[in-house]
Amino acid sequence: MSLVSILWPMVAATSLTLGVTHLIVWWQNRDKPERLWFFFMTVATAGMAFTELRMMNAATGGEFGYALRWNHVPVLMNFFAVIGFLMVYMRAGRPWLAGLAIGTRSISTAINFLVHPNINFREITGVRQVSFLGDEVSLAIGRPNPLMVLAQFGLLLVLIFTIDVTVTVWRRGERRRALLVGGSIIFFILAGTIQAVLSHWGFVNVPAIGSVYFLGMIVVTAFDLSFEMWRAVRLAEELGESERRMTLAAEAGNLGLWIRDVPRDEIWANRQWRDLFGFAPDERLELDRVLHRLHPDDREEIERTMAAAVECGGRYDVEYRVDLPDGRIRWIASHGRIETDAKGRPLRMLGVSRDCTERRDAELETQRLRQEIAHVGRVSMMGQLASALAHEINQPLGAILRNAEAAELFLRHESPDLDEIRAILADIRRDDQRAATVIGRMRSLLKRHDLAVRPVEVDELFGEVGSLLRGDAAARQVKLELLAPHDLPPVLGDRVHLQQVLVNLILNGMDALNGAAVEDRRVSVAAQLAAGQMIEIAVSDSGPGIPTGKIASVFEPFFTTKLSGMGMGLPISQNIIEIHGGRLWAENDATGGGAVFRFTLPITNGRAAS
Ligand code: ADP
Repeated sequence: MSLVSILWPMVAATSLTLGVTHLIVWWQNRDKPERLWFFFMTVATAGMAFTELRMMNAATGGEFGYALRWNHVPVLMNFFAVIGFLMVYMRAGRPWLAGLAIGTRSISTAINFLVHPNINFREITGVRQVSFLGDEVSLAIGRPNPLMVLAQFGLLLVLIFTIDVTVTVWRRGERRRALLVGGSIIFFILAGTIQAVLSHWGFVNVPAIGSVYFLGMIVVTAFDLSFEMWRAVRLAEELGESERRMTLAAEAGNLGLWIRDVPRDEIWANRQWRDLFGFAPDERLELDRVLHRLHPDDREEIERTMAAAVECGGRYDVEYRVDLPDGRIRWIASHGRIETDAKGRPLRMLGVSRDCTERRDAELETQRLRQEIAHVGRVSMMGQLASALAHEINQPLGAILRNAEAAELFLRHESPDLDEIRAILADIRRDDQRAATVIGRMRSLLKRHDLAVRPVEVDELFGEVGSLLRGDAAARQVKLELLAPHDLPPVLGDRVHLQQVLVNLILNGMDALNGAAVEDRRVSVAAQLAAGQMIEIAVSDSGPGIPTGKIASVFEPFFTTKLSGMGMGLPISQNIIEIHGGRLWAENDATGGGAVFRFTLPITNGRAAS
């Protein structure tokens, strides 16, 4: 058997074997189209080897011409395959140049089938035997066809296209790939072109051996593709290892882990995750079934969050309820990431979930309590305000009555003093307006729930609270003093809420004086600058103080030592002060013996004051 008849089938077989291997890889992972192009290259090269062998073994000029004519088909196919491969694998190449090269070669192939015997020869008169690789092979005897220049021009265009691609990839910094893939393709096409041109025009007596050059190209490219594959496998192994570690860590931290393969809609989850969502260890997981487990009120929101995350290819943080099969509801906090391919299509979703039911329940309970306290606080305030209102209104009403009686007396005179009556009427009007103002202010105290934070002058605040409680203090024979230095900067707060706190603390102080001697009944309110841009306000009384051991308890809701007390004044006050960014605490005055309630409030900074 001759060497040529062994070598050429081997070229075809090697080429096809490499091609099929990469076709299988492509089949399993369709997002790598370069492997499909590579397969086309190998099929075309095998086709070239087959027709070349037929040419070398041709017994007549006719046989040779026929085989040569059909040799153009796999060559054209290789044009397509090499250009397609380069554009996809190297992510470079000018489409117009690719089009021009393929177009030129397509035209030359079409002409090849229109002329006789082919585009290479005008006429083939016979074959002659030349020795090649120690063998006798056939070469055509005939007149070369000048039209062949067109086909060879096509080859030149592919060469230019490949050089352009290689330069782009080199400039991009992918030097290894540029040298290995681009360089080898340039080398083999160049060598093949030179050899084809020389033998076509009769300068050398070598048969057409294009398939050998293409095989060279295929082997080098296959090496690079395999290197890529090896790298991908190693990456996958590393990922697998890190996934194993992550799973271990997740299990140690009692975290649920899940991974969703988006294109296949397959979900993998660890045991903790299945427990969290109430799925059996061997139950098949699909997105629909998981979504079905979510509480109906949360489902839409979660679907929206996921869709937004898929669109932005980003991360998400959500909290939602899960309806467990046994009827219980569990709160889940989930943190996840969405991985996309080069075109931004979602590939994988990874998430970590944990049970946050306890925290959620505690938050809800706190919120409920806060609402309750606010409600009860308003109710108890109403009682206090009603009595304050009665005190405040009594005074102007009494004055109005006295003035009206005086005016009646004046009118009984024969010639009443109209100026005097006018003055009396003016007094009546002023008292009436004062009563209306008091009522208005009380109403606003009852109505307002929201925090309207503004700069508040402390001495103005003291003045308002003083006039609110003056009546009370007088009735209980308590000396009420409110002292604020004039140069204090304003505090930042809600005027009505701060009044509420002061009223609460002062009334508590007055309550504490119930059993004290009249001359010792004193409640003082003082303000001073404190550290950290704060103002400290202290409400002290001359009462017995807070019983030892009860100082912490007085701020607990419903703690009261009074017969008609509700035990809500201090917790509400503390809440209000904390909302303002301050602190309220109690102590007993070491010298005077009474209780002192102190609270801090932030000073208005330049921005808030403007
Ligand atoms: P209430 O006034 O309805 O009892 P508070 O929350 O305002 O509710 O007060 C809780 C308790 O704190 C009071 O019952 C009292 O025992 C104690 N307390 C508050 N202020 C003083 C004070 N100035 N002196 C002594 N004890 C006080």
